[in-house]
Amino acid sequence: MTAASLTIDLNALTANWRALDAASGTTVETAAVIKAGAYGLGAARVGRALSRAGARRFFVAVTEEAAELREALGPGPEINVFSGHMAGDTDRIHDLHLVPMINSIDQMLRHVEALPGHPFGVQLDTGMNRLGMEPAEWAALRDIALEQNITLIMSHLACADEPDHPMNAAQLASFRTMTEGLDVPRSLSATGGILLGPEYHFNLTRPGIGLYGGAPFGDAQAVAHVSLPVIQTRILDAGEAVGYGNTWTATAPTKLATVAAGYADGIHRAMSGKLHLYAGDTPCPVRGRISMDLITVDITHLPEEPRALDLLNHIQTVDTLADLAGSIGYEILTSLGNRYQRRYSGA
Ligand SMILES: *Cc1c(COP(=O)(O)O)cnc(C)c1O
Repeated sequence: MTAASLTIDLNALTANWRALDAASGTTVETAAVIKAGAYGLGAARVGRALSRAGARRFFVAVTEEAAELREALGPGPEINVFSGHMAGDTDRIHDLHLVPMINSIDQMLRHVEALPGHPFGVQLDTGMNRLGMEPAEWAALRDIALEQNITLIMSHLACADEPDHPMNAAQLASFRTMTEGLDVPRSLSATGGILLGPEYHFNLTRPGIGLYGGAPFGDAQAVAHVSLPVIQTRILDAGEAVGYGNTWTATAPTKLATVAAGYADGIHRAMSGKLHLYAGDTPCPVRGRISMDLITVDITHLPEEPRALDLLNHIQTVDTLADLAGSIGYEILTSLGNRYQRRYSGA
């Protein structure tokens, strides 16, 4: 066994979805965002577990992500596509019963011409300037959209992970102005917006990162557990150096373990000199640079040689790693890569 293992705790995943569903309020539907292969954790298994837990609506980024998911979920659950209806998407939208989130006048025309009567949502830009119709475009298109099979109006918050940021209230006001009085379900909030409170929830919430155990959902249970097998140990004398560039030198006799994972597995090289791996609850400092496939760890203080050391456990979360790498939990998860032996536990 030399491959590092990534264990995905489906019970923790579904507990996180239930907690965010409860926080969304009883009259609000809670969807699940499983783009990028469920943030790297596997869209089919994650989708099925959440479907069994009660999720009825899923979001992906592009239609290509929907094929595997439709097969895993069967015909019932709704699959929405954030990128909308792109040229070349028509057959997939039709055959897989996808609901595109239309974000421009061009997409709107393409959709109603190619698939008249097929449901769609509309994505509005309320100030993030990333994706969606601007107020003027929406004003021009609104009456046409309302005559068609529009099932959702959504927008996305730029600063929801900072509750005091004035952008939140500004986007809320803009979303209200653009959608007031329309008899169409509305959605504004991802994980961060759910935590901002009920006025941000409207009819549907769209959590992603919180399901997978990441900030800003502070009460999240850890979903991803990563364990790295020890493939060699050695004793260094004082004065011996470790790894590329010889960046760390032992000042006393040191016992070093080499584990089988590296920056090719999403363990960013920038964490060299800061990262710890865990033997149970005991932290062990990484020494020297993180290589592509190998990491060297100081285990001098351990009473016995471990067979594996943990990267992600109940103590060290994706956000701990993100802080060390100058990144965010989202990027840590989606960078883990496909070399891990993946296991699913629970559910
Ligand atoms: C990724 C995404 C989400 C989910 O966001 P989280 O912060 O992961 O909860 C929701 N809506 C849109 C438009 C997104 O792109």
